[in-house]
This record gives sequence, structure tokens and C-alpha cells, in this order.
Amino acid sequence: MILDSFRLDGRVALVTGGNRGLGQMCALALAEAGADIAVLGRTEPAETASLIKALGRRVAEVPCDLALADPAQLADAVATVAAQLGRIDILVNNAGIIRRAPAAEVTPTDWDEVMTVNLDAVFHLSQAAGRRMLAQGGGRIINVASMLSFQGGLRVPAYTAAKHAVLGLTRALANEWAGSGVNVNAIAPGYMATDNTAPLREDPIRAASILERIPAGRWGAPEDVMGAVVFLASDAARYVHGAVLPVDGGWLAR
Ligand code: NAP
Repeated sequence: MILDSFRLDGRVALVTGGNRGLGQMCALALAEAGADIAVLGRTEPAETASLIKALGRRVAEVPCDLALADPAQLADAVATVAAQLGRIDILVNNAGIIRRAPAAEVTPTDWDEVMTVNLDAVFHLSQAAGRRMLAQGGGRIINVASMLSFQGGLRVPAYTAAKHAVLGLTRALANEWAGSGVNVNAIAPGYMATDNTAPLREDPIRAASILERIPAGRWGAPEDVMGAVVFLASDAARYVHGAVLPVDGGWLAR
């Protein structure tokens, strides 16, 4: 039955930044669909872990600061997941940061940190997990892109550069690995109500102009990404490679 192809029983998923926001909902969605979950991040994901356990799934917590970890440490983190949960079938590169400043005022430190977390870590984790997926004959990598994978945005140049690159990387890896059963795709959330966008929602002028442009007439909720991540992680998406799935209330269609 088609709905059975969405189930993830027996799979192991690694979600970065799964302690809050969109990553928490990705982790819970994959767990609800049947997967065991490793949550990688710099903050203990206590709430996420207890919710996953309540669903009857196994959970591994992988402490890692993506701004500080070098490629070898990221490979070690992936190895830890395989050691604790037995394998790795799904990687969700969700963790991300944003630094808002006019381009003329962006500091080298902020530029580097955004690129390190939002792009470099995505590649190094994908490479480490991808090697295992290639060896086992299949897997799924889901990158969290953005509207700013397509548009320039306002006063977030490093974020925009990194998210454009995440889309390019998604396609590059998909091209290489599609023939080996490893599906690499991206989700592009629109304007979602998380900590990432709190400053926008607190600015009445920006908040109103963003809301006015969203065809769905509301900001996205973190739960809105749950269906997309399960689909892309599942056998239902077995012939989907290098795609970017907007979850944006119609923002890109406008
Ligand atoms: P969020 O609520 O701010 O959560 C960000 C997550 O990334 C947190 O779990 C955070 O962990 C983690 N993270 C940040 N820096 C890290 C580091 N150095 N090492 C490890 N983990 C780190 O943001 P969100 O809205 O859920 O964003 C999740 C993803 O969606 C990001 O890639 C973001 O760019 C993307 N996105 C968001 C929106 C939106 O409207 N919200 C739209 C498009 C794309 P800590 O709790 O330890 O900080």
C-alpha cells in the first residue's frame, strides 16, 4: 500500500539542531514514522529526547558544536551515531544560524561562523554519512535550504550565500549519488515562526510586509515541515533526487 512506503521502521536518522525549532519537528516526525533518532547539537536536546522515547523509539544524543568541529570531528560524530544506533539511513542537515547586518557592516567573524555552520558542516556531515550510505547501498540526505536559496534577502548576505550554496550542493551530491540509491534533496521553508525569525516578527513593519506577501495568509509553524521531511526520507521519494521542496505557504509562487 502506498502509505506503507512512507514508514521508516528500522531506519536510523541523524538530525542536526534537533533540540528546538524546525529540527525538533523533523526529529519527531521521523520518529513518529518509525525511525530511531540521533540528535546532534551543542545544547542537550532533553525535550526532544523524551518525546522520541515516548514514541517508543531509540534516541542518541550527539554533543557537537558545528561552529567549532573540524571535518574529522564531524566524521567521528557520524561514526558515533552508527556505533550507538547500529547504522545511519537518513541525515537531516537542519542546524543553521543567521546574522543580520548591512553588507557593509558584516564582520569577518560573523561571515565565517555562518558559512561554517550553514554550509561547511552540511558538506562534511553529508560526506561522512554519504560514505556509509554508499557502502550500504542506500540512504537519504535532506538539507534545509531557504527562500534565500532563491532570493537575495535583506541584510543577511552570509546566510543568503550559504543557503544558495546548500541548494547547489544538494544538486551536486544528488547527481553523484542517485545511481547508488542515495537520495539527496532539500526542503526550503518559507517564513516560519521559530527563534530564527523572532526579530522579524517583533518588527511590526517587517512582520506586516512579510505576512502580506504570503499567499497562505499566515507564518509557517514548525509542524508544517513534518510531512515534507518524512516524504523525502521515505521510499515514497525513491525516484526524487536533487529536488527542493518549498514549504512556504506559496511564497515562491507569488
Ligand atoms: P532555530 O529555532 O534558531 O534553531 C536553530 C537550530 O540550529 C538549533 O537547534 C540550534 O541549536 C542549532 N544550531 C545553531 N548553531 C549551532 C551550532 N554551532 N552547532 C550545533 N547546532 C547549532 O532555527 P530554525 O528556524 O528552526 O532553523 C532551522 C533551519 O531552518 C536552519 O537551517 C534555518 O536556516 C532554516 N530555515 C529557517 C526558516 C525560518 O523561517 N525559521 C526559514 C528557512 C530556513 P542551539 O539551540 O544550541 O542554538
